[in-house]
Amino acid sequence: MSKFALPGSPLSPPKKNNGGKKQPEGFFGSPWQLLLQVMVALLLVWLWQESLQRATVTTIPYSTFLDKLDKKEIIGCTITPEEIQGKMLVSAPTKKEGETKAPTPAFFRTVRVEDPNLVARLQSAHTTYSSVRPSLLSQLIFSWILPIGIFFLIWVGLTRWMTRGAGYSLLNVGKSRARLVAEEGTGVSFADVAGCQEAKYELQEVVDFLKSPARYRALGAKIPKGVLLIGPPGTGKTLLARAVAGEAHVAFFSLSGSEFVEMFVGVGASRVRDLFVQAKGRAPCIIFIDELDAIGRQRGVRIAMGHDEQEQTLNQLLVEMDGFDPNEGIIILAATNRPDILDRALLRPGRFDRQVVVDLPDVQGREAILRVHSKGKPLAPDINLQEIAHATSGMSGADLANLMNEAALLAARRKVQKVGQADLLEALEKVVAGPERRSLQLAKEEKKRVAYHEVGHALVAAATPGADPVRKVSIIPRGRGALGYTLQLPPAQQYLFTRSQLLTKIRCAMGGRAAEEIIFSEVSTGAENDLEVATTLARQMVCLYGMSESVGLAHLIPSRPGLAEVPSLDGHVEYSGETARLVDQEVQRILEKTYEEAKAILQKERKTLEEVTANLLKKETLDAAEFLALLPESAKQPLSTPQ
Ligand code: ADP
Ligand code: ZN
Ligand code: MG
Repeated sequence: MSKFALPGSPLSPPKKNNGGKKQPEGFFGSPWQLLLQVMVALLLVWLWQESLQRATVTTIPYSTFLDKLDKKEIIGCTITPEEIQGKMLVSAPTKKEGETKAPTPAFFRTVRVEDPNLVARLQSAHTTYSSVRPSLLSQLIFSWILPIGIFFLIWVGLTRWMTRGAGYSLLNVGKSRARLVAEEGTGVSFADVAGCQEAKYELQEVVDFLKSPARYRALGAKIPKGVLLIGPPGTGKTLLARAVAGEAHVAFFSLSGSEFVEMFVGVGASRVRDLFVQAKGRAPCIIFIDELDAIGRQRGVRIAMGHDEQEQTLNQLLVEMDGFDPNEGIIILAATNRPDILDRALLRPGRFDRQVVVDLPDVQGREAILRVHSKGKPLAPDINLQEIAHATSGMSGADLANLMNEAALLAARRKVQKVGQADLLEALEKVVAGPERRSLQLAKEEKKRVAYHEVGHALVAAATPGADPVRKVSIIPRGRGALGYTLQLPPAQQYLFTRSQLLTKIRCAMGGRAAEEIIFSEVSTGAENDLEVATTLARQMVCLYGMSESVGLAHLIPSRPGLAEVPSLDGHVEYSGETARLVDQEVQRILEKTYEEAKAILQKERKTLEEVTANLLKKETLDAAEFLALLPESAKQPLSTPQ
């Protein structure tokens, strides 16, 4: 029943798929493909004509034709050496008896029989007749050019669709689908990338080289062949690579690692070869391989299928990287968020020997990113991006871009001219806890439980010195399964956490469940998310930070190099079963101890718990000031505002 904005806990960034922009390339790859496509189109046209004729032209015996001629039911006809075609009148059958309908014209065809009297009979019947097909041009247009055109369009459409949907076209397998972005670079400049000063500084050198390679060559300086951008998702790696091309005004080949890996063995390798051939023709230029980890995984440790394929692709990449001189003016940029799984050979000197870390933005970086993304969005005078920057610790550039957009959407919905601070705060809540779901009606008893739970969190936080101040308590349900939430925001960006600070976080997470137990003498399923947060933190304390006496000074889970991000806990275990048991015991001990502490706090402040909850049930949300006003001196914590 609670969602927290925990500093340092990476919020899942919105999945941004660059793949959507993919343009299928050259429709006609080679003369053979052209031939094949034309043949298929002709076949389809022929089939179409056949069926058309079958459907609308009635074949009648010659005798019937003569019959109709005598009855003057033949309107006109064309005589060719083989057959007679034309229009005749057919009296349509009617349902009601005695009623005759006007005869309708229909096309007919009959085999021509050698009949010397034919012309005379046609004459006497006053039928128009000729021996040439009428209007050869219209015949040609209607029966050939038009259908061929239609089929061609359908074919192009289908090919496009296939290329987009399945990610490849059978006819284009093996061709590199690197997208060539405009000659004059990408139009993105370093000014569009906020924060990441160090990364920009490193990449400036690459830009300089691409702009004036002669200066470097004259001094005999060797420019790095490859630069690897390392950082968590959404931190602007792709954006930086595009900015390098934009600043240097050079061609930019970009390809995602996953695009190399196909179902056919050898295709990836030939794509790599093709990419380098194309790039060499366009030097100076930048080759950008996004998501390098998709092809650059360590060889020999893969479990899934496609083992050989990846290995071949990677080998080809290594060969190509060795095979050119960087002074030719080609620089390879690559990006990854998993440098730990990359094959060591890729990181060797002469390949991606330069690594640039693009980390999650700090508080100034976040403010700058918010500012960049507020371009084109009129801001109200009350806007304070600094406050938002302080409140968004752990968010990536992509998260912040999304936040800014959400705020603009909310302002538009309010039908106001400018984005206000309230919109930004609302958007922040929406991003952190999901959108409000006012339609979700909770039963009275359930609502009461949610309220006690949330106030439990808030009171434990308020009563603990050093806990992040409570900014908002709410029992308006929000998306992603939150029935209520307590928003705690850190007063400032924090890079280090002490042992007691971590224990405080765990204790606050326990507050909800503790309150439920005190009031209802029974717990509910609502504390799942809290337990998840608490358990993760406790495990990190024991396994990563050496903060437990009995386990001691050990780092038990391999972390990712180069990232300030919290290492993942799903890595493989590198310790004995005995240690594992000890770790479990320690984690359990921490969780139980903090839970008891939370319960003790709430039992002492039980009266306050009741009062605040009654208020929350009435108002549904309490902001920081309202909440603090309800607290007695004993349970008050000054709300330190961000500087
Ligand atoms: P990555 O490749 O690291 O996963 P992207 O470069 O695709 O991240 O970033 C996604 C989006 O997030 C960008 O298009 C941009 O709008 C925004 N963004 C990320 N980092 C920054 C930044 N430092 N400055 C400005 N915008 C950023
Ligand atoms: Zn909770
Ligand atoms: Mg990217």
